Amino acid sequence: MASTPGQQPSSTAPSTPSTPVSSSYLIIGAGCFGASTALHLARSEPGARITLLDRTPFPCPSAAAHDLNKIIRSEYTDEFYMRLALEAIRAWKSDPIFSPYFQQTGILFATTQEHASKIVENYTSVAAEKADSMASVPVETIEPEVARGRFGGIFRDTDWDGVETCLWNAEAGWGDAENALRNVISSAIALGVKFLPLAVDRLLFDQTGGCLGARTVTGVDLHAEHIILCTGAGTAKLLADSAPGSPRLQVGGRLTAAAAVMCAYRVPADQMAKFGSAPIVVKAVGDTPGESIPPGKAGLLKCTHELSFTNTVYHGGLGDNISIPPEDPLHSTWSHDVPSQLKIETERVRAMLYGKYLTSLVPEFYRMCW
Ligand SMILES: Cc1cc2nc3c(=O)[nH]c(=O)nc-3n(C[C@H](O)[C@H](O)[C@H](O)COP(=O)(O)OP(=O)(O)OC[C@H]3O[C@@H](n4cnc5c(N)ncnc54)[C@H](O)[C@@H]3O)c2cc1C
Repeated sequence: MASTPGQQPSSTAPSTPSTPVSSSYLIIGAGCFGASTALHLARSEPGARITLLDRTPFPCPSAAAHDLNKIIRSEYTDEFYMRLALEAIRAWKSDPIFSPYFQQTGILFATTQEHASKIVENYTSVAAEKADSMASVPVETIEPEVARGRFGGIFRDTDWDGVETCLWNAEAGWGDAENALRNVISSAIALGVKFLPLAVDRLLFDQTGGCLGARTVTGVDLHAEHIILCTGAGTAKLLADSAPGSPRLQVGGRLTAAAAVMCAYRVPADQMAKFGSAPIVVKAVGDTPGESIPPGKAGLLKCTHELSFTNTVYHGGLGDNISIPPEDPLHSTWSHDVPSQLKIETERVRAMLYGKYLTSLVPEFYRMCW
């Protein structure tokens, strides 16, 4: 199979330290990681040849990053993730590519004492190093019963089952995920990144096992010096299809594609005022762990059941099971084609978080997000 002209590795002309060498990158998958990688590479290496691929025109509706909204928070027990999240929140607030899509609502994080203490400990450790405002401890502890009377009373009826304490962080918010993702990719393209709406069938290797590029489902071979896989929940299948005889290249036990179910509820106009000062709420404990993002201008309240599930299939070439999203895009995009039990789960989350305080909400669509 011939390589596509223009996608060859960059110039091999001799270089000196004063001659910047332009690199070529092939980024497979234009979700959160792929799009962001393309943008940041284009910014940091203006001469690089960067190609970004996804299965559909961007943004791909099956990408986890393509969503009504996503929570942007830094409440993590892993200090490394907390530091990354604090850096990301700064970018969401200050980088013009992201900031138009950020809504600062704050977050109420309802959990156990132990979990909350670890998060506060991390904030304290980060704050001890730096004196800037984002690095100061941004959380206030609120008792669950006290939370009922705050935030305009939106948690008046909340079932705090399993909750020992709540952390309130006014710095957090949500991102308009679909539109932010579109803008990141458009901005990368404006900086010279080439986007191709092509699914990758398999990766190409040389005789030593080095990755040379990828073959698309349309039979086009794309080569680059650096091949970056950002294929999210599709990674196990791509590796199994590409190198079934190389166990070390397989995902194995390192990654599991998992989904969670969510519902976007249409909030009647006469109920919208109840969300005037409503934050995001994450209730990570109890029988029904769930989270909710308050409605923006679209008037849609998102409720997500936090318990995830998997879809395991036998891969003939590999001779083993892999965990992958279902093939039908209806099972990874917004639709009503969701098993009824999962619809009940999202309703449980809604009832747990808002009880009878909200009435006449109508499910607009559901999603199994992988
Ligand atoms: C239910 C749910 C809720 C979440 N909520 C939040 C939240 O509120 N806040 C938060 O920060 N994070 C949240 N996340 C996590 C977040 O969505 C993911 O961490 C993030 O989207 C992962 O980015 P990614 O680029 O790895 O994968 P994705 O965004 O899924 O992108 C992968 C891309 O690879 C493409 N691809 C796959 N295979 C191929 C192929 N063979 N050829 C070409 N392209 C391919 C896909 O089409 C897709 O576009 C949530 C995740 C889920 C599942």
